[in-house]
Amino acid sequence: MLPVDTLLIAGKLSPLKYRMIKSLLQNCGIYQKNYRGCIHIQIDSRFDLNFDLSWYASIFYRYYLHHFDSVQRLDFLMKNIICDIDGVLLHNNNLVPGADEFIHRILKKGNPLKLLTNYPSQTPADLQNRLGAAGIKIDAEYFYTSAMATAAFLEKQDGRKAYVIGEGALTHELYRIGFTITDINPDFVIVGETRAFNWDMMQKASYFILGGSRFIATNPDVAGPKGYPACGALCAPIERITGKKPYYIGKPNAWMMRAALNSINAHSENTVIIGDNMNTDILAGVQAGIETILVLSGVSAEENLDKYPFRPNHIFSNAAAIDVV
Ligand SMILES: [Mg+2]
Repeated sequence: MLPVDTLLIAGKLSPLKYRMIKSLLQNCGIYQKNYRGCIHIQIDSRFDLNFDLSWYASIFYRYYLHHFDSVQRLDFLMKNIICDIDGVLLHNNNLVPGADEFIHRILKKGNPLKLLTNYPSQTPADLQNRLGAAGIKIDAEYFYTSAMATAAFLEKQDGRKAYVIGEGALTHELYRIGFTITDINPDFVIVGETRAFNWDMMQKASYFILGGSRFIATNPDVAGPKGYPACGALCAPIERITGKKPYYIGKPNAWMMRAALNSINAHSENTVIIGDNMNTDILAGVQAGIETILVLSGVSAEENLDKYPFRPNHIFSNAAAIDVV
């Protein structure tokens, strides 16, 4: 067992890499030692743990990612953050007050971050544009959508033909993994979200599912703001006709969480999920063994928590108030 003030910061290093990181540590004036091939740093107890540790972690983290291919993550120092978008950062297209400062603070600190949304109809570039217009400046690579998770799931399944009810962001992900979008003998019926949903789509999807196509859906949300029909609502009539339920990829399915974690090479034990919805975000975190933060700026209210058999690890009024990451 390591002393509490000693932090393991790297995996096994070659002698060359060891000399490189040793000189970096010495330049920072930090005592370090090589222990069983791993570098440890010893933190002076006078340091403000909340500030200094994260500052050093940020420096080392960036240094390692830049220089080494294989790195044991700074799990003791930097939490991976998975953050929901709607109800946490935005209300429709309007900024939740302080959410811009929260995201900019996390980006500056350097925590691995994914902005995770069950909404399948926007590409990362669309989301980047939407958040940018609200004042949150962040690169497209930080987004992860249920359309991307659906493609990650289907990539591991047999069959490459799908009948799709959804928009360009979903079909783009399917083409990217080599799918053919067709209404001739599809292996899958894949439902996302679209305002163009109609009788013909309902009939074709039902016919293919009754004939053996596998029924996949991006997310189980039934409605958005103002009664906006979401994926679950489009699946409902097809379920009634066929008697078959879709396999929903999005939150609270732990698949979505694992796919998002994989996309940043993160491990669930050192990850926190921030969300506004007990039924999706917090349940997904609980099922994936991830630390959970509920913010009260969206759909779930504190007075309704009693009806759930699980609790979030932390509750904050909004993203700006979060002080545990
Ligand atoms: Mg939300």
